[in-house]
Amino acid sequence: MQVPLLDLKPQFAKIRDEVKQAIDRVLETQVFVLGPEVQKLEQEVSEYSGAKFGVGCASGTDSILLSLMAAGVSLGDEVITTPYTFFSTAGSISRVGAIPVFVDIDAETYNIDPSLIESRITPRTKALIPVHLFGQCADMGPILEIADEHGLYVIEDAAQSIGSKTKLDGAWAAAGAMGHLGCFSFFPSKNLGAYGDGGMVVTNDEGLAEKVRMLRAHGSKPKYHHSLIGANSRLDAIQAAVLRVKLKYLDGWSDARRQNAGFYDEAFAESGIESPKVRDGNRSIYNQYVIRTEARDRVMRYLKEHGVGCEVYYPVPLHLQKCYAFLGYNMGDFPESEAAARETLALPIYPELADEQLSYVVKCVLEGLK
Ligand SMILES: *Cc1c(COP(=O)(O)O)cnc(C)c1O
Repeated sequence: MQVPLLDLKPQFAKIRDEVKQAIDRVLETQVFVLGPEVQKLEQEVSEYSGAKFGVGCASGTDSILLSLMAAGVSLGDEVITTPYTFFSTAGSISRVGAIPVFVDIDAETYNIDPSLIESRITPRTKALIPVHLFGQCADMGPILEIADEHGLYVIEDAAQSIGSKTKLDGAWAAAGAMGHLGCFSFFPSKNLGAYGDGGMVVTNDEGLAEKVRMLRAHGSKPKYHHSLIGANSRLDAIQAAVLRVKLKYLDGWSDARRQNAGFYDEAFAESGIESPKVRDGNRSIYNQYVIRTEARDRVMRYLKEHGVGCEVYYPVPLHLQKCYAFLGYNMGDFPESEAAARETLALPIYPELADEQLSYVVKCVLEGLK
């Protein structure tokens, strides 16, 4: 049996007709960049995430970049985030000339450990970027409190977590809508994936929304009049049309992911494999299902030999990347991130997995562990 880490074909098979009609609709308009289709998606995604405004852009990476620019983060400023994330979180900080300042993760959720943030704040700190990793929200209560106390922007990297929820002051809040700016990625492999690159910034702040809207089109308003220096980072109408079809199914797909996760959780209980831990008051959408074992490399080899797709997110924490040597960090600086990089492995979790596939993955993991 073959079980890929992700197979988008069964999803496409179910929505093929709708997607083709949506793409046809765009072709008939011959409007390809921004336009009404993108506007409708912006409205639907902002409503979905409980934010007031949505601004589509070219990628998840650019949604972080544009958010930092809108927040006025620039040369020499410091932005706090974790070293255990996709490169783009820190890379975007660097691209505006700011300095990523790393804080270690919580060992159980892999998200930023709020108790470690305050000691890293300096007069140059401008923003915090909590990452909602693997589909689970970071511990936003204390993060928002710290930001408020120190006058910092909170930019949520929600690239892996659209639809994820957390209890905040007793009520459900959604990933992306809790801080000043929230960043979504529509990269095809994400839980809400386009048929190419795409991203969106969501916010409750009308001024920030307007700034991001200008920045994605070279900082112009009106056209050819530039009060800001922006970028060319716009969302395509074809991507928006595809995403509008898919958004309707997203909650159902998230339920299916949670169900698959429940199957694995049960199967791995007392096996020596650590299942992902979801914090009380969190509702994960399992963008990834990440197990943990000291025998990670052995299990990974076994899975690959037996046709099971798996991947290490992320093998090298960002403080140990070559391009960040100049920041002066060393091995040992962020022990939880380093341990996670050594011991974790993502398994297939996509919604359309069949029961036999799930059982086969479990069987191979347990055999690989022996
Ligand atoms: C995917 C991802 C991004 C970047 O999104 P792209 O659309 O690929 O540019 C940023 N942060 C995290 C945590 C991601 O997983």
